[in-house]
Amino acid sequence: MGFSERVATEALALCGRSCCICHKFCGTKIELHHIKQKACGGDDTLDNCIPVCFDCHADMGRADPKHPKGKRYSEAELKRHRDSWYEKVKKSSASTTEKRIYKEDIELFDTICNLFTSKVKYWLIECDIGGSHPYNVFDPFVNYLYKCNDPFFEFIDPELEKLRGNLSSCIEKFLSYKATNTFVRMIGGEKQCVTREWMVNHENWVPHSMNYEEYSVQYAEEAQTLNDLATNVWNTYCVFVRQGRRWLSM
Ligand SMILES: [Zn+2]
Repeated sequence: MGFSERVATEALALCGRSCCICHKFCGTKIELHHIKQKACGGDDTLDNCIPVCFDCHADMGRADPKHPKGKRYSEAELKRHRDSWYEKVKKSSASTTEKRIYKEDIELFDTICNLFTSKVKYWLIECDIGGSHPYNVFDPFVNYLYKCNDPFFEFIDPELEKLRGNLSSCIEKFLSYKATNTFVRMIGGEKQCVTREWMVNHENWVPHSMNYEEYSVQYAEEAQTLNDLATNVWNTYCVFVRQGRRWLSM
């Protein structure tokens, strides 16, 4: 047995179908997580329920509660995240007629827009970053994700915060794929590229364990995925800018 229909409806209304952890809007791609696990005696009440996106939910399952190391959320922390998000959503629906624009939000909006320098934009959408790219070109994104742990780095306005949540999620997916599927080129230095196939093509290096064709297929797939994730970051950023500007100027 899981949460009842009544509890589910209530929880989804309270969170505005946005993840209580990262704040991105999820629509139907949302799950109800037991704050205290059922195996540990948790019940199916509204108080024990937190709506989260698939990504944040996966993060929660990763660690063992009996080994509380790493970044696993405590029950108290989950409740705090949830309650403050419910509060924000509630305030925004109550005040849609007289919306307030906060100067802190305008500043944060500018800070995020400034991450997308012409250089970042160039490498995100104009180039095949699977081939090779300067290894530090996306450092602004790394710094950005690091800052996301800071509660000051959050919009006061929940509509803007949802847009930021969507953008952060795309950046995170892009960076984590990049981190596991690219490597620094030994020759030429300061460049990063997908799989050793690059070396096969450009540096005449073929490993014994794989034949050339296998390598080509793997390379093409990884490069394509990386480019797709990069394009996705850019598209989400465009939505963030368009909707954010409209919202801030209303
Ligand atoms: Zn989330």
